[in-house]
Amino acid sequence: MSEALADLPPLRESLAAHGLLAKKAFGQHFLLDLNITRKIARLAGVAAGDRVIEIGPGPGGLTRALLETGARVTAVEKDERFRPLLEELGVACPALDLVFGDALEVNEAAIAEGAPAHLVSNLPYNVGTALLIKWLTGPWTPASLTLMFQREVADRITAAPGDEAYGRLAVLVQATASAHRVMDVPARAFTPPPKVDSAVVRLAPREDRLAPERLRALEQATAAAFGQRRKMLRSSLKPLGGEALAVAAGLDPQARAETVDLAGFLRLADQLAGRGA
Ligand code: SAM
Repeated sequence: MSEALADLPPLRESLAAHGLLAKKAFGQHFLLDLNITRKIARLAGVAAGDRVIEIGPGPGGLTRALLETGARVTAVEKDERFRPLLEELGVACPALDLVFGDALEVNEAAIAEGAPAHLVSNLPYNVGTALLIKWLTGPWTPASLTLMFQREVADRITAAPGDEAYGRLAVLVQATASAHRVMDVPARAFTPPPKVDSAVVRLAPREDRLAPERLRALEQATAAAFGQRRKMLRSSLKPLGGEALAVAAGLDPQARAETVDLAGFLRLADQLAGRGA
């Protein structure tokens, strides 16, 4: 670890020195225990020289752990109040670049300058799923994603057919990446503690990306099927072709969406997009 990083004041002191308190509107729940942030950096598999994009550095606990690995980190923060504190961190560690803005709007490809980059974030809960969908379906693909979610969202991301949490999000994630829940984090580990526990999910984007029109058809099929998840496919898919569509995709029209696996949904999507066999 560089001496400059080791000499930084503890995170609580930095927050107090800058008079910073968590703001609910920005989904701020901080990780001030470096043992936890170091474990997340380890789980991310980030190594010296890697490029990392961190969303929402806040007081910079996870940022410090990422910088300790020797990675080059670009941190994107929406809350301008953190500028002075983060700029101090940038002075101590020149491998840190800062972008102040909304992560939903930033151009990650431009930040990464064409090189592969890993995404790591203790995500703001209010935009966590929107950001995940942007990274899995947008024009830029991260090398890997290591992300903290509310545990209920982590369950929805990693659910298998038949699980209560299985739905559109799980199908979309499985179609674009492999996803594993790698760490549970209790609410008390955060300052201030959120109402619910959290979990870290690590995702590796698939190399064979779906063509945009196939992805759009998949979104259409899952929206219809899970929009009425208790109904049989022949009813829930009615606006798209009902029983005939289900049969053409090799699915039992009396089955319900929650039992259909990714392969089944991809066949539905291909029928919709006119690519079925
Ligand atoms: N990484 C810090 C940590 O682990 O202690 C803070 C995590 S906190 C859960 C979420 C962070 O994301 C906050 O710093 C918040 O200001 C920031 N944030 C919220 N919405 C954002 C957005 N749309 N774009 C970028 N940052 C955002």
